[in-house]
Amino acid sequence: MRLADGIRKHGFRKWYERELLGSHGWMVLLFLCTIGLFAAFEGLSQSTGSDARLGNLVAIGLCGVVGVVALRRYLYLLLHAEAVANQAVCEQCDTYGRLEVMAEDRGGERLRVRCRRCGHEWTIED
Ligand SMILES: [Zn+2]
Repeated sequence: MRLADGIRKHGFRKWYERELLGSHGWMVLLFLCTIGLFAAFEGLSQSTGSDARLGNLVAIGLCGVVGVVALRRYLYLLLHAEAVANQAVCEQCDTYGRLEVMAEDRGGERLRVRCRRCGHEWTIED
């Protein structure tokens, strides 16, 4: 979901909370992949049959690929949410996160927002 659509649908604070929850879900998957990776390496070091070795090698490859995807997704969602949250403070009244989207540029990368408390307008870059 694009930033403007997410803020319009849920409000800024709920959007931010959902982004953080989503990113931490990816972090949990990364943690599980790390455990799977260690278990597969241990299984590989103790296995004697070729089928068991092949199974452990497949598990290592699978956990490695899924873990890298999960790490990239976790970092992207977390850093994106933080970058937007750093711009969500009204410069006039210092209110955090009480804003509404007024307009967005064509690509949705720049949002014109207005403070719900004092009406001040500013731009947030996605
Ligand atoms: Zn304000």
